[in-house]
Amino acid sequence: MTVQFIFDFRDTSTVGPDILGGKGFGLSKMTQIGIPVPPGFVVSTEACKVFYEQGGRLSNEFWQDFNSQLNELEVQTDKKFGGTSDPLLVSVRSGAPISMPGMMDTILNIGLNDQAVEALASASDDRHFAFDSYRRLVQMYGEVVEGIDKRAFDDVLQLALKNEKAASPIALSESGLEQLVGAFKKVFEKETSKTFPQDPFEQVHRCVMAVFESWHGKRAQTYREMQSIPNTLGTAVNVQAMVYGNLGERSGTGVCFTRNPSTGEAKLYGEFLQSAQGEDVVAGIRTPEPVEKMGEIFPDAYLDLLHHTSALERYNRDMQDIEFTIQQNELFILQTRNGKRTAQAAVKMAVDMTGEGLISEDEAIMRVDPSDLTQLLLPQLHDDHGMDIVATGLGASPGAAVGFITLDADIAEQRAQKGEHVILVRPETSPDDIHGFIAAQGILTAKGGLTSHAAVVARGMGKPCITGCEGLDVDLEARHISIFGVIYDEGTLITIDGTTGSVIIGEPDLVAASNEGELDTLLKWADSKRRLKVMANADTPVDARNAKRFGAEGIGLCRTEHMFFGEDRLPKMQRMILANNVESRAEALEELLPIQTEDFYGIFKELGESPVIIRLLDPPLHEFLPDKSEATSSEIARRIDELSETNPMLGMRGCRLGLVYPEIYEMQVRAIADASVKVRDESGIWPRAQIMMPMVGFISEMVQLRKNVQAILDERTVSDVPIGMMIELPRTCVVADEMREAADFFSFGTNDLTQTTLGFSRDDAENAFMGKYTDEGILVSNPFETLDVSGVGKLINLAVDSVESGGHHMSFGACGEHGGDPASIEFFHAAGLDYVSCSPFRIPIARLAAAQAAISV
Ligand code: PEP
Ligand code: MG
Repeated sequence: MTVQFIFDFRDTSTVGPDILGGKGFGLSKMTQIGIPVPPGFVVSTEACKVFYEQGGRLSNEFWQDFNSQLNELEVQTDKKFGGTSDPLLVSVRSGAPISMPGMMDTILNIGLNDQAVEALASASDDRHFAFDSYRRLVQMYGEVVEGIDKRAFDDVLQLALKNEKAASPIALSESGLEQLVGAFKKVFEKETSKTFPQDPFEQVHRCVMAVFESWHGKRAQTYREMQSIPNTLGTAVNVQAMVYGNLGERSGTGVCFTRNPSTGEAKLYGEFLQSAQGEDVVAGIRTPEPVEKMGEIFPDAYLDLLHHTSALERYNRDMQDIEFTIQQNELFILQTRNGKRTAQAAVKMAVDMTGEGLISEDEAIMRVDPSDLTQLLLPQLHDDHGMDIVATGLGASPGAAVGFITLDADIAEQRAQKGEHVILVRPETSPDDIHGFIAAQGILTAKGGLTSHAAVVARGMGKPCITGCEGLDVDLEARHISIFGVIYDEGTLITIDGTTGSVIIGEPDLVAASNEGELDTLLKWADSKRRLKVMANADTPVDARNAKRFGAEGIGLCRTEHMFFGEDRLPKMQRMILANNVESRAEALEELLPIQTEDFYGIFKELGESPVIIRLLDPPLHEFLPDKSEATSSEIARRIDELSETNPMLGMRGCRLGLVYPEIYEMQVRAIADASVKVRDESGIWPRAQIMMPMVGFISEMVQLRKNVQAILDERTVSDVPIGMMIELPRTCVVADEMREAADFFSFGTNDLTQTTLGFSRDDAENAFMGKYTDEGILVSNPFETLDVSGVGKLINLAVDSVESGGHHMSFGACGEHGGDPASIEFFHAAGLDYVSCSPFRIPIARLAAAQAAISV
């Protein structure tokens, strides 16, 4: 059976978005449920794959099928493609299986030539419209199919506008537009050494192939890399009868969202332009009107819009991003898809839609990408920042960002690579700037609306963005911007607030965003679904308070060496490390004891009756030894030499230190015991301290450590303190069943376990080779961020299974960086761990990811 490559919108019941692309799938479904959609058909993603397999061509048989589908369109519309009276014109638009807004190409008004334009002029009785359509085709075709630089057309257009003192092409006279078509055709000839093709079939065939080619265009590639969209999916192409938003004042075109994509507010939200076509709204060349104003200008079409958009949202059970055209007061829907949204909007919509009965709690939980929650924790401008707002634009993507003004995407990329913070400032929006978006802290554009490419892409990336900024002028030649006439050079420090649209010169006070309201509701639902507990990695009373605020159920890892990072504490810690006999070490430890006791006391008070797992000292010595040049005596310099290690990550770390110098751990256990007694005396409640040993590899280590710790606890008459260990070495995974006899609980230290399993140094891998590995696909992701499930994961499974298969239940946790990574959390859930522990600001991410893991199995 031959593969079907072409699908009429009316008959696609057996195929999904992977074949039809998102846009084609949406258009088909709309056609089938009675939404007014211009007729058309889809050329499938399979055809795109075949096109590439055959070295950039399609067979004659394919084109025969294609032409007969075009004939069918002629029958449906009662018009003739390339006809001499009321000709059929078509659009050719890309539509990938996963939406990539603005990243691929579209060509409108295909089928116009020197004769058809006259036919269109008399059929519509509007010569202005016919030639406006023709000049658009020549330019779009020239750019997309022939790769002519946009500037070649722009220069000619600017001249025409200047001649007639017109603000935009739509304001040109009939004869001005006719002349412009002639001038555009000359540009075409000059750039390609060919005349503009007059055969409509040649036009449409070339356009379909050009859209396929745009799948591998630079901006589409960059976008796919950023969004991890596979290169192999290919794009579909939609061929559709044209309706004309540029057919006079009673026509127009627009884009709307069924809810506000920035805040989530449940109200139709969007923009339109009168007398405009296709890309005019999203290209950001003219500034559009808010969609509510349609009620005044096109009252009937507006009512239809309200009706159809709400039907589409109900049908798709999600917020829709809809493109529409009004042709002489009649509404047509040209596209619907699930809309991109900020994290804030995603959370609000998920909760609201559950309240409206549109989706279930489980679906609401699955609708929000846990990693996006970091956006909700983005900084905002402080209410009392007290600085002048020099300009205001449209708040297109929330959050505040500070950086140096940079006018060019390439330069933004270069400066960001040097670690500088930049704000990309552009006159208008172009998808070609995508690499600059990635590099910048935020984006500011002079023109454009809330649905322009910059806005959509920035929202998807969670970057603060302002578009349509009034008073801003960007002079790319002089390399400066001016705001209401005041000049600021490239490199000036600027702040943008994408929540309010405010622009400030300099750096005002910023505050962390709040995490209340709908997020709380969503996380509470998540809490009721998840099995994994979520604990925090917190080392100070302040961290502990934050952790509780974000919903931590306890502290899963208190790294005691971090308690000594402060300027006043480090010298005391160094004195302890440098001590070369028991007496001087005892003296240094005496100084550390009250500090440790005070910190534990503070943490226990914050945590109340929730558990606090305290890990005894694990200081890789190179992180704590003073620099030799700072040695105050030759003896200290010699001691630094003695203690220096070639491979500190595999050296005198963790429990090895506690076994060689038992007095260090003894001091720490004393501090834990004393702080516990103090809290108990004050409140009557024992804190739930647990003691954890780092880097244990042999049961004999654990037996000895346990004995030492227990002796101190007994001496202080503190009981019921579980004593457990970290699993950070492959050997420990292999012998976990044996270790069970000496430990009360286990926690996987996946940072070290990754380091020791892969033989990748935690300190060096990222600087040395990780970038190349992930860029070239040698590894799909950095194993220090996302757990290496097939290697490290297998060791974890081995450890858990060997303990549990003996019929024992032990508490297992994970407290490396992976404890806050959604993909790794999915694995920890499946592996049967009891909890994950991560840094405080990732707690909401972990709560949601743990619920998603529970729901999806
Ligand atoms: C680990 O190794 O995963 C761990 C949590 O310990 P640290 O990062 O302190 O070595
Ligand atoms: Mg470790």
